[in-house]
Amino acid sequence: MVAGQQYAINEMAGLLGLQTPAGAAAGIIDTLLTDSRKLVSPATSLFFALEGPQRNGHLFIAELYKKGVRHFVVAQPVDEAAYPEAVFLHVNDPLKALQQVAAAHRNHYAMDVIGITGSNGKTVVKEWLYQLLQPYKNIVRSPKSFNSQLGVPLSVWQMSAENNLAIFEAGISRPGEMEKLEAIIAPTIGILTNIGPAHSEGFTDDAEKLAEKLKLFKQAKVIIANGDHPLIGEGIKPYPAVFFSWGKQAHNAVQVLDILVKEEETVIRVKQREGDPIELIIPFTDQASIENALTCTTVLLWLGIAPASIISGMKGLQPVNMRMEFKQGINNCIVINDSYSADLNSLTVALEFLQQQARGKRKTVILSDIPENKGDALQLYHTIRELLQRYGVNRLIGIGEKMQAQADLFTAVPECSFYVSTDAFLEQFHSTQYLDEYILVKGARKFGFERIVNQLEQKVHETVLEINLDAVAQNLKTIQQQLKPGVKVMAMVKAFGYGSGAAEIANVVQFHKADYLGVAYADEGVELRKAGISIPVMVLNTEANAFDALTDYNLEPDLFSFELLQAFEQHVKNAGLKHYPVHIEVETGMNRTGFAVSDMAALAGHLKDNEWIRVQSVFSHLAASEDQVEDSFTLHQYELLMEAVGVLESMTGYPFLKHIANTSAILRFPQLQLDMVRLGIGLYGISGKERVPLQTVATLKTTISQIKKIKKGETVSYNRRGVAKEDSVIATLRIGYADGYSRRLGNGVGKVWVNGQLAPVIGTVCMDMTMIDITHIPGVKEGDDVIIFGAPVPVQQLAEWIGTIPYEIMTGISQRVKRVYYGEG
Ligand SMILES: *Cc1c(COP(=O)(O)O)cnc(C)c1O
Repeated sequence: MVAGQQYAINEMAGLLGLQTPAGAAAGIIDTLLTDSRKLVSPATSLFFALEGPQRNGHLFIAELYKKGVRHFVVAQPVDEAAYPEAVFLHVNDPLKALQQVAAAHRNHYAMDVIGITGSNGKTVVKEWLYQLLQPYKNIVRSPKSFNSQLGVPLSVWQMSAENNLAIFEAGISRPGEMEKLEAIIAPTIGILTNIGPAHSEGFTDDAEKLAEKLKLFKQAKVIIANGDHPLIGEGIKPYPAVFFSWGKQAHNAVQVLDILVKEEETVIRVKQREGDPIELIIPFTDQASIENALTCTTVLLWLGIAPASIISGMKGLQPVNMRMEFKQGINNCIVINDSYSADLNSLTVALEFLQQQARGKRKTVILSDIPENKGDALQLYHTIRELLQRYGVNRLIGIGEKMQAQADLFTAVPECSFYVSTDAFLEQFHSTQYLDEYILVKGARKFGFERIVNQLEQKVHETVLEINLDAVAQNLKTIQQQLKPGVKVMAMVKAFGYGSGAAEIANVVQFHKADYLGVAYADEGVELRKAGISIPVMVLNTEANAFDALTDYNLEPDLFSFELLQAFEQHVKNAGLKHYPVHIEVETGMNRTGFAVSDMAALAGHLKDNEWIRVQSVFSHLAASEDQVEDSFTLHQYELLMEAVGVLESMTGYPFLKHIANTSAILRFPQLQLDMVRLGIGLYGISGKERVPLQTVATLKTTISQIKKIKKGETVSYNRRGVAKEDSVIATLRIGYADGYSRRLGNGVGKVWVNGQLAPVIGTVCMDMTMIDITHIPGVKEGDDVIIFGAPVPVQQLAEWIGTIPYEIMTGISQRVKRVYYGEG
C-alpha cells in the first residue's frame, strides 16, 4: 500500500541475496504489500506473506493471485504450479526480508534522516517538525504513527530522489527491537522526546529502557534530547554523536530561560550559548506540548533555521489530530473530514481510508491546492492525479487557483469541477448534488474547509453517541491476545451492536478478520447483509416467520428444539436448498433456549446423513460466567456441553465448531475457549471486574441549552423534587429519558461530566431534558458539551448508580440519538 521507488523484481531478489527466479526479470515493483485488504495496484505490488499469531499471510496468496498480484515473498512451501504467472521469492522470514529491502532502499540516499524515539510525543514531534520545516525542505515522513517493526520499513520505502529530508518514528515494545529499526532508518539526526515509566514497555527499569532506545542513534551525528535528565546525559556518553541538548540548566546547548503559561498560549524564552534570548509563543498550554515544542525548537536551531522563522513557525503550530472522523452527511452521504492538513503523504493516507470505508460506493474528493515544496507544481499534480486514479475516485472537486490551473490534468477522473476559492464553491453549493456517496474533504487550513463540512453534515438534535471504531478494533485485538492460537471469534452485534450500530461494528470486525457475527433476530442479520457484510452470521432467535429472510440472506439459524428443526428442514427442502448451515444450542443451565442433553442421541440420529441441513456449530450459553461464587456451576455447564458434543460427534460423523464462552468466560476461563468464543460486551470496551485494558468505545454527549440562577429554596423540575439548598446555578441539558437517560438518575443519583468535573442531576429527569447543578463548577457556558458517559464517567458507573448493568444502559440509548463514528476501525 505504500508506493515508493520502482525496482525490477530481479533487483528486489538481489537486495535479498537471492537468485533471480527464471522469467522474472520483467516485473516492476513499486509497492510493498503486507495486508491483502489494502491491495490497490496488483501488477506492481510485492506481497510479503507475514506470519503472525492471528494471521498467516500465506493464506491470502490465492486470493491475491486472482486479483492480479504476481510477486510474492514467502517462507512456507507454495504449490507454485497453481500460480503459473507468479514469481515466488523464498526466504526464512518475510518480515526480516521486508526490513532488509527497506534498509537497502534507505542506503541509496545521502539526505539527512531524523529518527525520533521516546515514550511519548513521537508522532506530535514528527508532525510539528513537518509543519515547521516544510517551507524549507522536501520532506518524506512516517504516515500516521507507523513506527513498528512493520511500520518503519513501510515508511522508509517512501523515500525518493525528490526528498531532501526524512523524518521517521521508531517505537519499541521489548528489548532487542531497536537494533533492527536502526538498521532500517539509520538516522543522521537523533531525537529522544522523553523517557517515561519503564513498566509499560517490557523493561525492568528506566536505565535499561533508555539504553535500548539510544541504540537508534548508533550512526547519528547529533542527538537532541532533554539535557536536565541525569540518566539521558549519562546514557549518551558512549555514542560518537554531539549531544545538542535543551533544558533549564546552563550546560544545555539550548537553555530554557523561562516558561510562562497563559490562558491560551505559552511564552517560552530560550537562548543558545552564544546567542541572544529568543521569545517563542506557542498556541498550547499543556506540559506535553511545551516539551514537544522545545524539542522542535532545538532541532530547528541545530539545522540553522533563523530565529525569526522559528518564532513565526511556532506561533502557527497546529494541533496534531491523527484520527480521521466520519460523519453522517446529507442525503445518506458519509463525510470524511480531514480538513486540517494537505500534503501528498496525508492525502495518500486519507484516500486509503476512503477506499476502505466506501466498499464499492461512489467516492467524491473535495481537495484544495497543496502547498508545494520546491516549485515543481506539474509533477506534484501529476502525482495527485495518479493517486486519485489509483484509489478509484469517481468525482473530484478541486478548490484553489492552482487546482484550477491544473484542471486539464484531471480529465482521467470521471467527473471533475474546479473553483477558484472556497467561497466560489459555497456560492454554487446545492445539497442535491450529493447523494448516497462517500465524500472526503481534504484541504490546507487556510481554505477553511470546515465550512464545507458544515454544509455537508446532517444537522440534528445535539445529543450524540460517539463511537470510536479504533477502540473496537483495538478491543478485538486485545481479546484475541487472550485466546489460544486458532480459536475463532464470533462478534456479537445483536441489539443494534449493543446500541453502537450493528453494521458499523460488523464492518470493523469483518475487516479485522472476525470469523462470525451473532445477532438476535433475522431482521438484524438482513440489515448486515444489506450493508455489505459477507462473513457468516448466526441468528439466535429463530422464528418460523423469518425462515425466508434467513435463506434469502444466507443467515444461519440457531435451532433449539425438534419442532424448529423439522420446520426449518421442511423450509430448506421447499426452497430447493441442501446442506444449509445451522447451529445447535444445548440447554446446560441457563434455562432459556436449547435442546436437553438427554435429547442428543435422538438428535444425532436425525442429523446423521441429513441432506437438508448441516451443523456448523454446537454451543451453549453460560448463566453466570462473571460470578466467582458460581464458578462450579459454570464448569458444570461446560461439562454438560462436552457430554452433548461427545454424543453428536460420534454419531453424526462430521466435525463442527463448539463454543460456550462469552466475554467474562473468555477472560476468566481459558479452558472454555474451545473452537470459538462469542465476544459481546468486551468488544464495546467493558471487561467487568477483569483488569483487561479495554478501550472506551461509546461516549454519550449532549449540550447545555440554558443556564439559570435560582435562589435558595426554589425548586427544579416536575413535582418540585429538586430543592436548592443554597443560591444555585442550574444548567439544562438536551437529553431526557426518551433518549435513554433513565428517570432513576434523577435527584442527585446521576452525575455528568462538565468542564472537567462531575455535576449532579437536580430534580426529576424529564422526557427530553435534564437539569444539573453547576453551582460549584466555574466557567460553564450555554452551548458547552457535557459527557453523560464515556472515559471520564464509565458506563459501568452509571449502571451502578441505578442498580443495573452496562448492557441495559448501552442498548437503551434511543434511536433518535445520532451515532457519530470516528477512527479508522
Ligand atoms: C449476548 C450473548 C453473548 C455475548 O455475551 P457478552 O457477555 O456480552 O460477551 C454470547 N452468547 C450469547 C448466546 C448471547 O446471547
